[in-house]
Amino acid sequence: MRVLDRDVVVIGAGPSGLTAAYELRKAGKTVAVLEARDRVGGRTWSQTMDGATIEIGGQWISPDQTGLYSLIEELGLETFERHKDGASVYIAEDGSRTVYTGDDFPVSDATNAEMDKIIAAMDELAAQVDPDAPWEHPRAAELDRISFHDWLRTITQDEVACTNVAPFIAGGMLTKPAYAFSALQALLMAASAGSFSNLVDEDFILDRRIVGTMQGVSLAVAERLGDDVFLNNPVLRLEWSDEGVVAHGSDVTVHAKKVVIAVPPNLYSRISYDPPLPRRQHVTHQHQSMGLVIKIHAVYASPFWREEGLSGTGFAPSNVVHEVYDNTYHGESTGTIVGFISDEHADAMFDLAPEKRKAVVLQDIAAFLGDRALEPVVYYESDFAAEEWTRGAYATSYDLGGLHRFGPDQNKNVGPIHFSSSDLAGEGYQHVDGAVRMGRRNAARIVAALDGTEPDPDYDGVVSPFGTLNLQDA
Ligand SMILES: Cc1cc2nc3c(=O)[nH]c(=O)nc-3n(C[C@H](O)[C@H](O)[C@H](O)COP(=O)(O)OP(=O)(O)OC[C@H]3O[C@@H](n4cnc5c(N)ncnc54)[C@H](O)[C@@H]3O)c2cc1C
Repeated sequence: MRVLDRDVVVIGAGPSGLTAAYELRKAGKTVAVLEARDRVGGRTWSQTMDGATIEIGGQWISPDQTGLYSLIEELGLETFERHKDGASVYIAEDGSRTVYTGDDFPVSDATNAEMDKIIAAMDELAAQVDPDAPWEHPRAAELDRISFHDWLRTITQDEVACTNVAPFIAGGMLTKPAYAFSALQALLMAASAGSFSNLVDEDFILDRRIVGTMQGVSLAVAERLGDDVFLNNPVLRLEWSDEGVVAHGSDVTVHAKKVVIAVPPNLYSRISYDPPLPRRQHVTHQHQSMGLVIKIHAVYASPFWREEGLSGTGFAPSNVVHEVYDNTYHGESTGTIVGFISDEHADAMFDLAPEKRKAVVLQDIAAFLGDRALEPVVYYESDFAAEEWTRGAYATSYDLGGLHRFGPDQNKNVGPIHFSSSDLAGEGYQHVDGAVRMGRRNAARIVAALDGTEPDPDYDGVVSPFGTLNLQDA
């Protein structure tokens, strides 16, 4: 057992923990990062399969994600645009398939008008919501008591409009059924991305990817931290007092003045705290839960859909695979389609044997792109729900009524313990951008506490608080 003394110990080497450690190091503090897995990156993870680059976890960046963009620039990484050219495909509840261009789904004018009505109502409310404090909205309690499903039906009686709009937050973001979370939680999701209009615009929200993959961000930060990142070291016990902490990993114990717990909130209770956390934290953490999504990767010899004028984008709000995109990686001649199966559809798919599930999934992709989609050269299912150190995807959200009740406490430190996660972010919530912003904000608060200065309460984590560290100086 190695025993280390550091200013700060960080638990979790995902983008949030690594960013926090990197900023602390830049501020002249000593750090150690203890990571449970045998790799860094957390919910961002890439592998090469039969020559194709597969981003198993997080991958896309939208233009508003300026915290992540500033880190990408600092690390000297580059981005590339998702393939967007060509027509999209819409599959209605009755299975009818329509190829279309433009922003509007090919539904009746009346339904389109109702969809626009919902989007306008969401945009108006989201503009009033501070993503850092949605519970401060004057109608927060009321909006947190009604499910997103029921709230949509207060705006319109058009079922097709509701079924088409709900997935942009339910299946597509929180990966929970729309009846399982509140309208306030949906508004936080929209406000965190700038507006609801941004969320329904796939060309905005799924705009670009990183050359070197999203996990490459964590790998580049970890390289700068060098020997201070300890893999295969789950922390299952944390002693704490006002004087400091002792974090117990598998073969490393770290004594430190402060700790950043940078694991997803659903895993806070994996750690035994001595003494126990305050009652309020115990209860709060039980109301934050992961969604469930299967991310499907199907790689083909070539992006054949482009020959037919299709972009690879498709929406089928009632199908098992509810959306697909061209996910071909930068510079590869193969063609990759990514598809998503969320919440109750994912439950049903996991009840099937793997070969049967694959057959159902490929039939759904073929419904968008034709029978050539039935024969991929690589087929892979991302399943973070089966991962010990994540237990769901994409991220955590509150149950009905939980956001306004418990949210105000989620970012308060408990003595020397600070919490850092994309799932606690305002802007960039549930995204790598939020993870980066939270890492920076926690680092800034900790440095102020250690130095006896006042932290800036308005610091948003967009720009590094401590400048740039060259790799050779790290
Ligand atoms: C399938 C999928 C697709 C996604 N798509 C996108 C996308 O396109 N764009 C986007 O921006 N975001 C996306 N996300 C979300 C994004 O990946 C997360 O928001 C981000 O990774 C969160 O970073 P984090 O550091 O807060 O947490 P994590 O990435 O979860 O990192 C937490 C780390 O803590 C470690 N850990 C857990 N418990 C312990 C313990 N007890 N001791 C030590 N270590 C521990 C974990 O192993 C992990 O490495 C996606 C996520 C998934 C799963």
